[in-house]
Amino acid sequence: MTAEIIRASAAAQAAALRAGEVSSQDLTRGHLDRIAAVDGDLNAFLHVSSEDALATAREVDTARAAGEELHPLAGVPIAVKDVVVTQGIPTTAASKILEGWIPPYDATLVEKLRAARLPILGKTNMDEFAMGSSTENSAYGPTRNQWDRERIPGGSGGGSAVAVGAYEAPLAIGTDTGGSIRQPASVTGTVGVKPTYGSVSRYGLIAMASSLDQAGPVTRTVEDSALLHELIAGHDPRDSTSLDGGFASFTEAARRKDVTGLRIGVIEELEGEGFDPLVRARFEESLEKLEQAGAEIIRLSCPNFRYALGAYYLIMPSEASSNLAKFDGMRFGLRVVPEESPTAEAVMKATRGQGFGDEVKRRILLGTYALSAGYYDAYYGSAQKVRTLVQRDFAAAFEKVDVLASPTAPSVAFGLGEKTSDPLAMYLGDIATIPANLAGVPGISLPSGLAEDGLPAGIQFLAPARADDRLYRVGGALEALLEDAWGGPLLAKAPELSASNEGSAR
Ligand code: GLN
Repeated sequence: MTAEIIRASAAAQAAALRAGEVSSQDLTRGHLDRIAAVDGDLNAFLHVSSEDALATAREVDTARAAGEELHPLAGVPIAVKDVVVTQGIPTTAASKILEGWIPPYDATLVEKLRAARLPILGKTNMDEFAMGSSTENSAYGPTRNQWDRERIPGGSGGGSAVAVGAYEAPLAIGTDTGGSIRQPASVTGTVGVKPTYGSVSRYGLIAMASSLDQAGPVTRTVEDSALLHELIAGHDPRDSTSLDGGFASFTEAARRKDVTGLRIGVIEELEGEGFDPLVRARFEESLEKLEQAGAEIIRLSCPNFRYALGAYYLIMPSEASSNLAKFDGMRFGLRVVPEESPTAEAVMKATRGQGFGDEVKRRILLGTYALSAGYYDAYYGSAQKVRTLVQRDFAAAFEKVDVLASPTAPSVAFGLGEKTSDPLAMYLGDIATIPANLAGVPGISLPSGLAEDGLPAGIQFLAPARADDRLYRVGGALEALLEDAWGGPLLAKAPELSASNEGSAR
């Protein structure tokens, strides 16, 4: 029974809980068993919080039995990316520098999960401090793609995507600074949404680049993303960039399954050269389906998008170099005290030297350089100007169309180790996702079909700020059209994972 139900959507699991067909404790145990069986291989979790999860599940079951009014997702378990702080549950951002840190507070979005009583299964693997596109920059080993364990799961949120894709969790939280929710979703055959900047509180996210970071849902269906998004969104006085409400219903939009009259803009700069042929083929077929269903496809140009990647890799490291200054060996986690000279400065130097990985150091160097006197205008200043131009491209495009579309990532999952020696090649994986972060607009990625080597590809839709509901409308409709053609969800085509794990999950 639980073996079957853990493969259902979160909405279906919630319905089974409401109907009394399964208890939250059984559902939670079913997922914990699945994690124990497959995660030794996949390494999607950095920490499994069984006791915490089961305690919540018990509470939900008791409350339900007492007839209490519960949130629609109450009792459905969830995994949380390890860059989000969780009271009493270790949080490392996949860095050695935070090893052993147990936060004394919850992020706002975690408070919301707890208030709605979603059992928290654990913390998911990621690139250290969310810097990367493959989860290979984790200090605790890479996560493996459930479609092919010799391939990357995308990044930085590879752990959340694989946890959901491999049925270890029906729901997960990711964060997206330049694509870390959408790109892993694309290469694992899952659904991921980067909300409008400011619509989900950043309080309690370990900041990488504060003007770009946004947390959002990672799920197996568009409707599940809508449900989770509605739960975690909302104004938060503790986040100075938090938006007030005023969003249309995401779940209604996801359930509408109608795109009649919807104008979809195809971004010329993001579909040609550099994108794998089969990724493009699946993208074009998806557009055809939408057109047949009544949408209008309009090709247009966003000329400044070609500078977005360059601007991002100045702005992001600049903000990160400042945000990461607080990891000094004094306040959190690791502290390395050199014997010969235990001065404060020597402790900071040794702690940061040993605590940070190569990519994090590379970006701190880049950011510090870009912000230094004499270079600030040439680098950081120019990048900010490009950011404005990208925003103007979006504004002009959204005068002509309701949503924009592109493949989410240029290729399917590449091999583990294939790009680790070439950071620039790695950065190119985010070419299609980064413009949305620079402009603060929302984006969704959902599976478009199988491409090169029989691996999943993703299609991305972008909408104007605060119009996240449009993503759910077009995503929900396309998902239904494609699943009709495939005869079910794409994930059902992934190879069965053997329970080859001897030890249990960490
Ligand atoms: N891959 C991008 C980077 O390395 C984006 C990461 C993210 O969105 N957190 O910065």
